[in-house]
Amino acid sequence: MGPLGQLADLFLNASRPVIFTGAGVSTESGIPDFRSPGGIWDRYSPIDYRDFMADPEARRETWRRGLHTYPVLLAASPNPAHLAIAELERLGKLNCLITQNIDGLHQRAGSSPALVIELHGNAHFVTCLACSARFERADIHRRVEAGEAEPSCERCGGLLKPTTISFGEQLPFEAIERAKCASSNCDLFVVVGSSLVVYPAAGFPELALRAAAQLVIVNASPTHLDSFAAVRFEAKAGEVFSQLMDGLRLRLASRPA
Ligand code: NAD
Repeated sequence: MGPLGQLADLFLNASRPVIFTGAGVSTESGIPDFRSPGGIWDRYSPIDYRDFMADPEARRETWRRGLHTYPVLLAASPNPAHLAIAELERLGKLNCLITQNIDGLHQRAGSSPALVIELHGNAHFVTCLACSARFERADIHRRVEAGEAEPSCERCGGLLKPTTISFGEQLPFEAIERAKCASSNCDLFVVVGSSLVVYPAAGFPELALRAAAQLVIVNASPTHLDSFAAVRFEAKAGEVFSQLMDGLRLRLASRPA
């Protein structure tokens, strides 16, 4: 049996499957990842959380960058990998979806918000650091486009920040705990489009391995956990998942009722 058949079998036989996605699941939607050539790091150096809090120029730079980066997120549509992951949930073949991504494409593809654990926040919202009011990023983006270099909260005048986790900022405690719990209790853990170099997020597949789960890696380039994978695809996520779903649908349709 080929690797696609093996992957279909793993999904059919798993009772607590978890999928873990990184920036690579969204490159086929036109959103560059961080570390591939031409990725985001080639263009921007990260803005540290402490600088954002202390330095008005760092905040202005954040909103200025958003003028270029946010329209890319806004225009992106889910690709076949996002759509397949949402279909796996509808088929009852997904227990938990952990993502490092901030683009909200899993939810737009139809994954239930309750199933998705966002480790690094979501770029489509902005929050006031003083009164915790929450705004649509698109509305704040329009204010920046109209000339506000550093938009402030229209309710209390407080500092606004996109609800993404900055470098040096603490990861959301509840999301991390839920992700740890799901990883430690799964029987299948599928990595999709992550270089697995950012911790603690990249530690989740290690927790799954310690729980004796089967590990699958779908990534365009090698990772340090490849030798532990039961099945591994060095390929584009959209292609692998489209083919997986074609096979899975046939297998499910031919199963006795
Ligand atoms: P990364 O950039 O470190 O790694 C992405 C991996 O995906 C690479 O190993 C690359 O080879 C692989 N890849 C690229 N295209 C692929 C494809 N079509 N199919 C399969 N694999 C593909 O990304 P990361 O590990 O997710 O981690 C870094 C951080 O980047 C995360 O914190 C995340 O928040 C942030 N990020 C998010 C987005 C987004 O929301 N779409 C985009 C860029 C960065």
